[in-house]
Amino acid sequence: ATKPYDDENIFAKILRGEIPSTKVYEDDWAYAFEDINPQAEIHTLVIPKGRYVSWDDFSAKASDEEIGGFVRAVGEVARAKGLVEPGYRLLANIGGHGHQEVPHLHVHIFGGHPLGPMLV
Ligand code: 5GP
Repeated sequence: ATKPYDDENIFAKILRGEIPSTKVYEDDWAYAFEDINPQAEIHTLVIPKGRYVSWDDFSAKASDEEIGGFVRAVGEVARAKGLVEPGYRLLANIGGHGHQEVPHLHVHIFGGHPLGPMLV
């Protein structure tokens, strides 16, 4: 079962402006910012503004408007970063087996160079 949402998680603090972040994109539904420990030339995180731990939590509880807004925001960031033509990678780590470290749903966007094969 998904854990209850923790309002003190790092991304909640980033959304509240309590921890600084480098903003890439923001709208009513989503916030995108640069990963503090980039694993590729471009490594941006996109999060829904709502209080959701995981993909399953989000898809079960969020409105169609929130879900649509979040999905659209991921595409907006890809376009803004010039990733559409060269290509890029989306990744979401979920829960224990997924090695999710921050318990607020986020999608990683990687790009800027050829990424090689996915390593599980
Ligand atoms: P996860 O393993 O949960 O999918 O990834 C969490 C990501 O959040 C990691 O890539 C990590 O570098 C990033 N991260 C953790 N703390 C912070 C922070 O305070 N600011 C930013 N911008 N990124 C963070």
